[in-house]
Amino acid sequence: MQNAMQLTTEQKLAQRRAALSGKADPALLADGIRAGDRSALARGITLVESTRHDHQRAAQALLALVLPETGHAVRIGLSGAPGVGKSTFTEAFGLYLTGRGKKVAVLAIDPSSARTGGSILGDKTRMELLARDPMAFIRPSPAGGTLGGVARRTREAMLLCEAAGFDVILIETVGVGQSETAVADMVDMFLLLLSPGGGDELQGIKRGIMELADLIIVNKADGDLIPAARRAQMEYQAALHLMRPKTAVWTPIVKLVSALRKEGVSEVWEAVEAHHTALTGSGDLTRLRAAQAQAWMWTEIREGLFAALASHPEGARLIPHLEADVAAGRTTPTAAAQRLLALIFE
Ligand code: GDP
Repeated sequence: MQNAMQLTTEQKLAQRRAALSGKADPALLADGIRAGDRSALARGITLVESTRHDHQRAAQALLALVLPETGHAVRIGLSGAPGVGKSTFTEAFGLYLTGRGKKVAVLAIDPSSARTGGSILGDKTRMELLARDPMAFIRPSPAGGTLGGVARRTREAMLLCEAAGFDVILIETVGVGQSETAVADMVDMFLLLLSPGGGDELQGIKRGIMELADLIIVNKADGDLIPAARRAQMEYQAALHLMRPKTAVWTPIVKLVSALRKEGVSEVWEAVEAHHTALTGSGDLTRLRAAQAQAWMWTEIREGLFAALASHPEGARLIPHLEADVAAGRTTPTAAAQRLLALIFE
């Protein structure tokens, strides 16, 4: 907050004029973000989320400017079924960290938010204390679009938060569907929140999601639920042992937490720090982030090609016909793909 004062009144006025005219000046925004100005950060994220062509160009210019200041945060993913206690945990964890002098940004990935009107983090009253904390920044999921689109905008928002000096970035998603993989692909450590349902619940959890987890948190380990939570902890730990670890230097563990009573929260942070230290020491963190950045580049290429095809007048007309031909076996998938790609490249 203090740093925000570093922007001169003149610069702020220039920013306001730029915002009003619909033109964002990437250099001014970058200065504001670097100085920790939250309104500049919020505007930067809005720019990143915009689908307007000129906004996208400005967003990429902004990201290029701040890129040297990115990469310093601990990037954490958090997922869990609705009702398991994600908001309650995020608030307890966030407040614990801000209490220790850390700046915390909470972002969300929820491709369904267009339909549900922004279910995840949309209702800020669920994290009332954290939302009011000057050391915290909460940003709901950008509304609408494909998972790929939402994921890209969240990654870019994460980079802007890092440039703004946030120490911890928490990316939250509802544990239904593909979004966990998207989150796991952009963070250093993936936390899976489960309830003390134990073995019964284990059946319902997709093995693939357990494999993503670096830390499983059995939440609601309080009151009558404590024995069930302990049993669940042992069962999850046993299940984790059967899985191939993501890295040689970290074995996934299971922690008991009561987000409601703020118990076990410091142990979660200790585990995050231990994970971070182990991966930094082995060089795995650098390798992981490099691989994530490269995978992101190829995702962009795929998405860019799809978008170019879908917006090409001839492409839009041809796609349904070629799909039908491929389905009916009248043409090979390769021939159909080559015909479509030729529209862009020839
Ligand atoms: P989300 O949908 O995953 O974000 O879940 P919420 O954080 O909104 O919590 C869902 C419900 O579980 C709320 O009624 C919370 O009060 C309750 N809850 C969350 N954490 C705990 C906990 O540690 N212990 C108990 N007993 N209840 C909890």
